[in-house]
Amino acid sequence: MESGKTDVLIVGAGPVALFAVFELGLLDMKCHLVDILDRPGGQCAELYPEKPIYDIPGWPVISAQGLVDQLLKQIAPFKPTFSFNRMVSGLEKLDDGGFRVTLDDGETIEAKVIVIAAGGGSFQPKRPPIPGIEAYEGTSVFYSVRRMEAFRGQDLVIVGGGDSALDWTLNLQPLARRVALVHRRPEFRAAPDSVNKMLAMQQRGEIDFWIGQIVRLTGNAGQLSSVTVKGPDGEIEVACTRMLPFFGLTMKLGPIADWGLELHENQIPVDTEKFETSTPGIFAIGDISWYPGKLKLILSGFHEAALMAQAAKRIVSPGERVVFQYTTSSTSIHRKLGVP
Ligand code: FAD
Repeated sequence: MESGKTDVLIVGAGPVALFAVFELGLLDMKCHLVDILDRPGGQCAELYPEKPIYDIPGWPVISAQGLVDQLLKQIAPFKPTFSFNRMVSGLEKLDDGGFRVTLDDGETIEAKVIVIAAGGGSFQPKRPPIPGIEAYEGTSVFYSVRRMEAFRGQDLVIVGGGDSALDWTLNLQPLARRVALVHRRPEFRAAPDSVNKMLAMQQRGEIDFWIGQIVRLTGNAGQLSSVTVKGPDGEIEVACTRMLPFFGLTMKLGPIADWGLELHENQIPVDTEKFETSTPGIFAIGDISWYPGKLKLILSGFHEAALMAQAAKRIVSPGERVVFQYTTSSTSIHRKLGVP
């Protein structure tokens, strides 16, 4: 089986991992990123690519996929290696102080430093307990919206009472032929503003809202034709061609849980000077990391990446003096970035 060598192996290719490539690249470290998904961007690309983000410094508004695209452009000069559709599973400490990781297809990669930027781990949508739902998954039942256009003209049933269910009800209503929101009770866990907007839409007759639980799916060969909602007044049949259940995600740390690292619930405790884990040479940044006051925000992950890179450099190039430089004025940085 194939094997490779790199300075830094990054577990995950979410937004924080991508920015880490930039910070590590400025300090001349080569990166290899591995992600279970089939493309870069983590939660941004998988869960909400078309949604606007408003708290990225310098971008008053940017779509989640737009941010990923900009990050990829920013790190292009450093030519990172990507391995997609692959899970990092095994970890072995080498005698020279480095590490050997094993991917789920048997490939091995040796690295001087490991950076875990695995977000919530391998995130899996929670499947609602509806008999036979598997037969519709990927054709009529979807757990995320990769392309809003795919729902144009559809009779859509959205299930859930959290932010995702409410946001997609509001965002897909203009495109879909009809949207019905189904939630088991009249109270929501979503932002009050979204709830108010949804209720106003219902009053204007622009969407339907049913209280109850989906107990049955009807259709043929993976194509839904209706769902049965069991509510306080009995069962009703709602015609639909697509269903989007948002029952939350199970964040499974996966094989990383067996790496002997200290854990804080499903996160990895780090120090806030270097963002190093309980194992020297293994760092954790982004949503997967934990320290007092941790905020699971992209901008926090960017800061963590910058400090991690300084500490990683001391391991990758021991004894080399690291001179702090601004990207604005450093000619050596300009050379690395290809600035004319
Ligand atoms: P992730 O984006 O979770 O990426 C981690 C990657 O690691 C994933 O692609 C996963 O497949 C991969 N991975 C995990 N385990 C392994 C393994 N063993 N092997 C290989 N790959 C692995 N944040 C904001 O700052 N502002 C917002 O407005 C905002 N809005 C949001 C809206 C929604 C609907 C959601 C769900 C999140 C939002 N967030 C927002 C949170 C933000 O998306 C996360 O903070 C961010 O994605 C964390 O980035 P990350 O790189 O740490 O992890």
